[in-house]
Amino acid sequence: MFEALKPLPQDPILQLMQTFREDTRPDKVDLGIGVYKDDAGNTPIMAAVHEAERRLLEGETTKSYVGPAGAAGFNNAVAELILGSNSPLIREGRTSVVQTPGGCGALRMAAEFLRLCQPDTTVWVSTPTWANHLPLLGGAGLAIREYPYLNPDTLEVDFAAMLGTLEGARAGDVVLLHGCCHNPSGADLSLSQWQEVTGLIQRKGLLPFVDMAYQGLGEGLEADAAGLRHLADSVPEMLIAASCSKNFGLYRERTGALALISATATVNSAATSQLLSIIRSHYSMPPAHGAAIVETILGDDGLQAQWQEELSGMCKRILHLRHGFADALAPVGDFSFIARQRGMFSFLGISPEQVSQLREEHGIYMLESSRVNVAGLNDRVMPRVADAIRDVLK
Ligand code: PMP
Repeated sequence: MFEALKPLPQDPILQLMQTFREDTRPDKVDLGIGVYKDDAGNTPIMAAVHEAERRLLEGETTKSYVGPAGAAGFNNAVAELILGSNSPLIREGRTSVVQTPGGCGALRMAAEFLRLCQPDTTVWVSTPTWANHLPLLGGAGLAIREYPYLNPDTLEVDFAAMLGTLEGARAGDVVLLHGCCHNPSGADLSLSQWQEVTGLIQRKGLLPFVDMAYQGLGEGLEADAAGLRHLADSVPEMLIAASCSKNFGLYRERTGALALISATATVNSAATSQLLSIIRSHYSMPPAHGAAIVETILGDDGLQAQWQEELSGMCKRILHLRHGFADALAPVGDFSFIARQRGMFSFLGISPEQVSQLREEHGIYMLESSRVNVAGLNDRVMPRVADAIRDVLK
């Protein structure tokens, strides 16, 4: 049965990582892979995570099953992190949160849930969006349509085009929005734009679905959630996929959550029972370790303060690099949008040929689309990267 299968080409990002590893040039620069890096180019374990792990190792008494919803303590803590600790949505029982294997697990379970609610659901995604959104949502059988988001000339949000297209969505269609730090463009909606999109969603009876994968890495934990919270407070129903991969640095521990907001507590309890049954039929239960780390950190004032400080340091480092990069590129052209964008990613807006030239002649790696991970820069390599970009643009 297996003989008929043809090998698939390697994923372009994994291919790029491999080429980077095999590159022997000592001054090579990796702006391709989408993980946070510190000044030395490492993706370290956060100190608060280390300490939580130490406590867990000492205090853990069982490896028995956690159940399809995961750990209640984690779920409650994540609900407050996303929606705010005083959210009426939590108090009124209109929100349930289930622990999932990463943000990807949340996205896929949400897609399966949407298909159960309405088999011919259409999800509108931004152009561009994170490449994995398409298989994660489309793989569950949802129809995918695109709304224009990034103006390819200015590399900023084309808000009028976005609203214009979403005017054509039908009641019951789902709109996927990036909570903050839009991947791959770094171009986020302002709070007033979130308010306008909220108005459109309300008026047209659309269902908002927010992917929150970078909370705390844009401007800060609260500011990054402001648009999402405004939306959540204004609509009867909403889905939120959250990831702890970036803001807790837990990538390989597969730690995320899916929040389900319903019009009433009664609806929420029925809908959650259906969601749990979907989870049971996919992976049964989420892995425990990463969520136990997050629960330990968020449940301890000292550890929480330490984590917030570390996260804020990462956020400030990215903002510093964004400004430094835009300044370093100023003699080459107007790259000021890099300083206005948020999170790890921005497009340089250069051609695939220029991207290859940067890789081959200068050892500077980025995705073919010219998406760069700003966190892969540091003040030492910045002048050389800027010179190389000037060289390929001349
Ligand atoms: N959404 C977006 C936009 C992402 O960039 C990512 C991670 N690259 C995720 C969701 C999910 O990440 P994970 O499954 O590792 O938590």
